Amino acid sequence: MTEQLQTVMEHIQAADAIVIGASNGLSISEGIHIFAENEDFARHFGEFRAQHGFRCIIQGCFHPYPSEAQKWAFFSRMHQYFLRDKAPSQVMQDLYDLVKDKNHFVLTSNIDAHFHLAGFDPSRLFEIEGNCRSMQCAVACHDRLYPGDDVLSELAQSVQDGKIPEELLPKCPECGGPMKVHIEIDRLFLKGSEWNERKRGFSDFIERVSGKKIVFLELGVGARNQLIKAPLMRIAECEPNASYICFNRGAEVYIPREIESKAIGVDGDIAQALRQLAAMLPA
Ligand SMILES: [Zn+2]
Repeated sequence: MTEQLQTVMEHIQAADAIVIGASNGLSISEGIHIFAENEDFARHFGEFRAQHGFRCIIQGCFHPYPSEAQKWAFFSRMHQYFLRDKAPSQVMQDLYDLVKDKNHFVLTSNIDAHFHLAGFDPSRLFEIEGNCRSMQCAVACHDRLYPGDDVLSELAQSVQDGKIPEELLPKCPECGGPMKVHIEIDRLFLKGSEWNERKRGFSDFIERVSGKKIVFLELGVGARNQLIKAPLMRIAECEPNASYICFNRGAEVYIPREIESKAIGVDGDIAQALRQLAAMLPA
């Protein structure tokens, strides 16, 4: 892998622009697996499993909670779990170090807000499916996102018997109804002005850097992913000076024939690959 990573590093250092496309596999390399029924889930969400029967974080996100008090108990715990240390993982630090001095943009479906935590500028970040730290009206009665860190931290401290006390439940300032965390779990996910601004930020970025040396870093995105992988590969295919680096494991390192000539597949542990790349940075 080392020789291949040296080539990747040469591409990164010569790049005029870097586009990061990241999905679940990047979180897994940090030790967070929202689809897994594992020890970590049992340790941090065991009582929710006992109470509601779901077996992983993503099921907890989609669970039809019998009450708002129970819903917020879970979402505040999830917020605490994702952001509990308030420090970025080595994986995210390495990724940030690799691109921070370059013109870059991030496209991700990860909801853990770990790009924020690592220091990425929110204006260079499009979290397509939202994140665990923002809130919206549950029925999207108005177009506004609310910062949720303080509220969610307070809620997480107040859980008793799997419930939040009624008087602490977040209420929509406009309609007085329930709120929810801004992650895409149903069709009421708010794709409002802020979401569209980020979406436009991405297309503006691509327009500005078109024709230049663009390096795509695809991190832990499934082979058949249509949300991130397919659109990024289409852009790379059209861009004459693009290179496309796909970090994943085994069969998930998928590179279609159309971009074969400008692509590198890095097969293996993403955390290790990023560690090695970051170690090649000039001190
Ligand atoms: Zn409302």
